[in-house]
Amino acid sequence: MGLKKTQIGHLSEIFGDRLITAKHELFLGSSDVGSLPKMVGIMMNYNPDAIVQPTSAEEIKALYKFANEEKVPLTPRGAGTSGYGGAIPRKGGITVDMRRMDNILSVDEENLTVTVEPGIVWTNLQFELNRLGLDVRSYPSSGLSATVGGWVAQGGDGIGSLKYGTINENCVEFEVVLPNGKLVKTDDKDLFCDTEGILGIITKVTLKIKPLTKIKPFVSSFPENYLMNMAIEHILEEGPLPFTIKFKESKYIDLKKSTWDEDYKFPFPVHHCTIMVVYEGTQEEIDAGEEVVRKITEQFKVVMYDDHVAEHDWEGRFHPMKIKKGGPTLVVGQA
Ligand SMILES: Cc1cc2nc3c(=O)[nH]c(=O)nc-3n(C[C@H](O)[C@H](O)[C@H](O)COP(=O)(O)OP(=O)(O)OC[C@H]3O[C@@H](n4cnc5c(N)ncnc54)[C@H](O)[C@@H]3O)c2cc1C
Repeated sequence: MGLKKTQIGHLSEIFGDRLITAKHELFLGSSDVGSLPKMVGIMMNYNPDAIVQPTSAEEIKALYKFANEEKVPLTPRGAGTSGYGGAIPRKGGITVDMRRMDNILSVDEENLTVTVEPGIVWTNLQFELNRLGLDVRSYPSSGLSATVGGWVAQGGDGIGSLKYGTINENCVEFEVVLPNGKLVKTDDKDLFCDTEGILGIITKVTLKIKPLTKIKPFVSSFPENYLMNMAIEHILEEGPLPFTIKFKESKYIDLKKSTWDEDYKFPFPVHHCTIMVVYEGTQEEIDAGEEVVRKITEQFKVVMYDDHVAEHDWEGRFHPMKIKKGGPTLVVGQA
């Protein structure tokens, strides 16, 4: 369909050089990390006709006014790391790239909340909070590039969610531009968490945060998946609630071995599965967690690896896709 010259002119008045119409850049807006079946492509027009990069809610209000008058669809987009197509246009139109709205607006150290613009990347937010002795309560494994707004709109569940809940449980308030162009403040999570941006574009989010605490991972391997599952049940029943548990079944570990490029030997036996149990909080909480993991690994007669292996696994939390180069199958789970 495409946009008319007059429409491009109007968008240019609102966004200036933050309006993108170059073909190769529009192409980048036509996918996310997933791959949709070819047949779906026949029914949809993935390519945006333009990408705009707002820097304020006012610009988004003006954009909705334009889109409603001209009947042009809008698709909000963060970093495009989801694999479910929510950030991909279905019928062309305008993609609203939110990554320039990436400021931290305020930190409430007393009530432990932070208010941010939605385009901020998770690890950037975490870095800034850590400098104040604070931390986010949960974040996605894609946190090196995924935006806060994208994870909110996706209703994410990730690292830290076992202890602190999903992103829905960590949102306090939103500022949203509704499709009718109205700017509202709301705490209605049902409307704005997990609804993929179809009910409005989020322009601010207030999130719960926590004090920065010690964190320690523990890694064990098991010869059978069912033993690993039983061990996880025991750990959850008997110990303090872990910050996160990452489990990798045996096929994942075998793939990991085939793509291993570290300068020390691959630590896990073939066909084993592994769990990484991570505790955070006071030293007492971490010690109590360690005791439970030790007890259970002894009970199951399996290996608990040293800190070096555990730290390496923890550092790898942002790179679950690394094994993709070893084969097509990706099986990674987390709680
Ligand atoms: C390696 C890897 C690891 C991952 N790990 C996790 C994980 O641990 N947990 C998890 O839940 N997911 C995970 N994901 C999926 C995905 O990364 C997350 O859901 C991520 O938070 C999406 O953020 P994004 O900025 O990339 O959003 P996008 O993919 O750009 O968009 C996601 C959805 O949000 C909408 N949206 C974006 N910004 C706004 C806004 N401001 N207002 C309204 N709607 C908006 C889009 O329209 C789209 O529907 C992972 C993906 C990868 C590739």
